[in-house]
Amino acid sequence: MSLESIPKDLKGLRACLLCSLVKSIDQFEYDGCENCEDFLEMKGDRDRVLDYTSSSFDGIIALTSPEESWVAKWQRIDKMTKGIYAISVTGELPEGIIRSLAGRGIKYRSRNTSTK
Ligand SMILES: [Zn+2]
Repeated sequence: MSLESIPKDLKGLRACLLCSLVKSIDQFEYDGCENCEDFLEMKGDRDRVLDYTSSSFDGIIALTSPEESWVAKWQRIDKMTKGIYAISVTGELPEGIIRSLAGRGIKYRSRNTSTK
């Protein structure tokens, strides 16, 4: 499997709030999110990385064959990149981006486990 999106160390790891992909903050800033870059456009924009990813997440799972994976189905994303995913992510995408996602027909499903 490709190791490109596997975090190189465990410091500064963050999970994408939209798809739960886990990478280091530097990887998000350098490559964006492989699943969500079209929508979130995090590449080269550290402020967006901080807004659209969360450092607070629980449990990680390795996704190695996205096409057949129960994980992909469970996360409701058809084509997920291989990598490490968080089982639950704490945090919310900002209102503005949720609206723009809705405009593109993407339903954001918060995986926040805590209630407000
Ligand atoms: Zn993502």
